[in-house]
Amino acid sequence: MADGAELSFAQLGLDPRILQAVCELGWAQPTLIQARAIPLALEGKDVLARAKTGSGKTAAYALPLLQHLLRRKASPTVAEQAVRGLILVPTKELGRQVLQMLRQLAAYCARDLRLVDISGQADFAAQRPLLMEKPDVVVGTPSRVLAHLQAQNLSLRDSLEILVMDEADLLFSFGFEEDLKSLLCHLPQIYQSFLMSATLNEDIQALKELVLHNPVTLRLQESQLPDSSQLSQFQIQCETEEDKFLLLYALLKLALLRGKVILFVGSIGRCYRLKLFLEQFSIPACVLNSELPVQSRCHIISQFNRGFYDYIVATDEHDLAEPEGPREGERKRRRRRKGSKAEKGRDQEYGVSRGIDFQNVSAVLNFDLPPSVESYIHRAGRTARADNPGTALTLVLPSERGPLAKIEAALTAESGETTLQPYQFRMEEIEGLRYRCQDAMRSVTKQAIKEARLREIKEELLNSEKLKTYFEDNPRDLGLLRHDQPLHPAIVKPHLRNVPEYLVPPTLRAVIQRRLGQRRRRKPLPPRAKGQRNPLRSFKGTRKQKTGAGR
Ligand code: AMP
Repeated sequence: MADGAELSFAQLGLDPRILQAVCELGWAQPTLIQARAIPLALEGKDVLARAKTGSGKTAAYALPLLQHLLRRKASPTVAEQAVRGLILVPTKELGRQVLQMLRQLAAYCARDLRLVDISGQADFAAQRPLLMEKPDVVVGTPSRVLAHLQAQNLSLRDSLEILVMDEADLLFSFGFEEDLKSLLCHLPQIYQSFLMSATLNEDIQALKELVLHNPVTLRLQESQLPDSSQLSQFQIQCETEEDKFLLLYALLKLALLRGKVILFVGSIGRCYRLKLFLEQFSIPACVLNSELPVQSRCHIISQFNRGFYDYIVATDEHDLAEPEGPREGERKRRRRRKGSKAEKGRDQEYGVSRGIDFQNVSAVLNFDLPPSVESYIHRAGRTARADNPGTALTLVLPSERGPLAKIEAALTAESGETTLQPYQFRMEEIEGLRYRCQDAMRSVTKQAIKEARLREIKEELLNSEKLKTYFEDNPRDLGLLRHDQPLHPAIVKPHLRNVPEYLVPPTLRAVIQRRLGQRRRRKPLPPRAKGQRNPLRSFKGTRKQKTGAGR
C-alpha cells in the first residue's frame, strides 16, 4: 500500500520500539500520507491533511505523536508525568479504534506511555481517576474532554504539546462547534496541531484559522475512493421494493455475494426489517445503529473484525442528514443542540460509515440508496481498505434513478472514471425464489419490527452492563457474547433455511454447489466449544446483585 511513496519506515527516523511494532503489524512501507506527513510532523510543523478513507491516516499522526512523546520522556529535563497529546474524535467508535491503533504502535514501549480513551466510557466519574494519573495521550470527543476540563479532572494549559483533530470535518457537523471553541480556551498558546479531514470545506477553513499556525496542507488524493482496479462499483435496477428483498435473499443464500458484507439501510426500522427478513432464512446478521449502547456497538465491530459475523445491517444516521450546504449544516447543528424528537434516544456521537476500520469487508451493499454523494463515499469506503479489493453494490428503484445519477455524476467527476457499472443479473432466473421471499416478507410485520427493536435494545442494554463489568473480570468469555441471535424466533419457518435444488437457477447450479460445499466445510466461528453455554445465560445468579442486570 505504498501508493508510490519511496520512503521506508526505517528512513523516517522512528524509535526502534515503534519500528518493531510497525514490523509486527506487517506494514512493509509507509502509505502516501504517512510518507508525506510524518517527516513534516517530526520537524514540528502543523499539518492539515486531506486523505482518502482507509489511507492509513491514523498512523500518519499517531507515529509522530508517539515518537515525540518517547523523545520527550527520554530527555533528562522532563521528569514530570503530564498530558502532552490530545486526540479529538467525533464518535465513540472512532475513539476506541484510535486508541487500539495507538496501543498497537506503542506495544513495545507500553510501560513508558499511558494512553487513555475517554470517549467510549459512559461513566463520567469513573474516568476521573484515569485522568488524574495524567496519561501521556487522551483520546476523546470534544464534549467529553470539555466536561472534564470544566470539572478540573483534566488540565492541558501547561502541558499540551500536540493536538490532533481526526475526521475534523465531522467534528463540526456533529454539532461540536461550540464545545470545540470552549475547549480551545483551555489549551496553551503554543502547541503543534494535526488536522485530518476527508474534505477541506468551509468548516475546515474556520477550524484551520483557530488551531493551526502556518500549516502545511497535504491534498494527497483527488479521489476519495480507490480506483476500479481495487474497488468494483455496481448498480442493480430493481423494479419494486419486493425485488430488492428477493435479490438480497438470492445474493446471500446462493452465495453469490461472499465474505463479509455490510448492508446499509436508511433508518433504524429498516435495520430490523432486514434482520428479521434474513432471520427467516436462517441467515444471521448483527444490527448496528445509534440506539444501541456504545459498549455493544464497539463489541460488534470488534467481533466482526475478528471474523465472528458475516453480515452487519447498519444505518449511517449522521450521514443521512449530512449537510449539502453551509445553511443546511447550521440548521442541523441547531437541531442537534436542541435535541429534536427524532434525535432523542439516539447517540449523537454514533458513526459507523466514517473513519471506522471495518476489516476485510468484501462488499458493501447499499440496500437503500445513500442520501448524498458523501454518504455514498463513506459507505463504499468501508470496503477495499488498505490494499484489499472490494465491491460496492447499490440497489436502485425506478424512483431513485435521478438521485443515483447525481451521485454517479459526482463520482465520475471526482475520479475521472465511469463508476457504477450495471450488475449483470437476470431477475427471471431467481423468480422461483419469489414465493419464499414473499412468505418471509409477510412475516415481518410492523408489529414484529417494533417488538424486535425493543427486544434488541433491552438485550443490548443488559449486554452493555455486562460488557462493562462481568467481562472486565472475565475477558476470555468476551468472545462468547454474540449479537446476531434471532430476534423473533417465533416467526422463523425452518423450511426456508435451505434452497431446494430445483429452485436454484440452472446456470448457477454447479458453481453454487461448489461454493455451498466450501462454506459448509469452513471452520465454524466463534470458537464456542460444544456444550459450552453463553456466559450471559448463566450470568444471572452471579452478578445480579452487583449490577441489577440479571435476566
Ligand atoms: P486508517 O485510514 O488509519 O483507518 O487505516 C486503514 C487501514 O490501513 C488500517 O487497517 C491500518 O491498519 C492499515 N494501514 C495503515 N498503515 C499501513 C501501512 N503502512 N501498510 C499497510 N497497512 C496500513
